[in-house]
Amino acid sequence: MAAVSIVELGPRDGLQNEAIAVDLAGRTAFVRALAGAGLRRIEAGAFVRPDRVPQMAGSDQLCAGLVGDTSLQAAGVRLSALVPNLKGLERAAAAGLREVAVFPAASETFSRQNLNQSVGEALVAAREVCTEATRQGIAVRGYVSTAFGCPYEGDVPIAAVARVCEALLAAGVHELAVSDTIGVAHPGQVRDVLATLMPVVTPGRLALHFHDTRGMALANVLVALEAGVTTFDACAGGLGGCPFAPGATGNLATEDLVYMLHGLGLAREIDLDALVGASAGIEAAVGHPLPSRCYRAARAVRRRA
Ligand code: MG
Repeated sequence: MAAVSIVELGPRDGLQNEAIAVDLAGRTAFVRALAGAGLRRIEAGAFVRPDRVPQMAGSDQLCAGLVGDTSLQAAGVRLSALVPNLKGLERAAAAGLREVAVFPAASETFSRQNLNQSVGEALVAAREVCTEATRQGIAVRGYVSTAFGCPYEGDVPIAAVARVCEALLAAGVHELAVSDTIGVAHPGQVRDVLATLMPVVTPGRLALHFHDTRGMALANVLVALEAGVTTFDACAGGLGGCPFAPGATGNLATEDLVYMLHGLGLAREIDLDALVGASAGIEAAVGHPLPSRCYRAARAVRRRA
């Protein structure tokens, strides 16, 4: 089986959805610890409005510091950040990032609620970012939010997902991250979505982003692996769940993903113990127990030992 790559989103998708905003020192230490565990693609921050997303405030300083970190450079760590528009891209470029991500949605209501734009308007903004980023030699990843279901509209037609994917590819994204934003996807649906997307997207340019809301994330990964997908998003510890917000649950936990991949003889470059250590550091900062089952099992074993 081909090598699998993990895109670690804990410092961005994870921390962005936590109730407590972690300070820059804590976020920097977290990224370094994740890199130390062997993760080579890390989304470190988001160039969004700090009044809207205070958890991501200071991403300029954070990313500039990480880009200049010679140990991360030596390890070949690819850092990226979320950018909603050209202004965000400008800030990411100023911080020295060579990769960014745009995030249109596949459903209209979510797009309007989350981005205050129609799907069409969000795709225009994404295309503007891609054009300028390409001119500067910056790679762009394209998330497709609500690809497996929308919190407002329910089912999302696969044709709508495919349209957004094709528009992003035409705009110049190097990778699509087809995302189950609300954690409703199940293996049968993953098979159906991949059967539609695989003919139009080279498998090497397709990533999947699952949430474990209904306990389906690993089953979904396994089905996707069998279909030839090799890139998966995850958040250390299963970060991103907020115990105070009903329905808000975490991303697929990197520990759970790595444990399964190790069992399949994959992702051997990731050190699971070091990853658990990285999560333990951030667990103290976010102020609640992290949900990853493999993380919790590893911590329990450590306490017994
Ligand atoms: Mg997510």
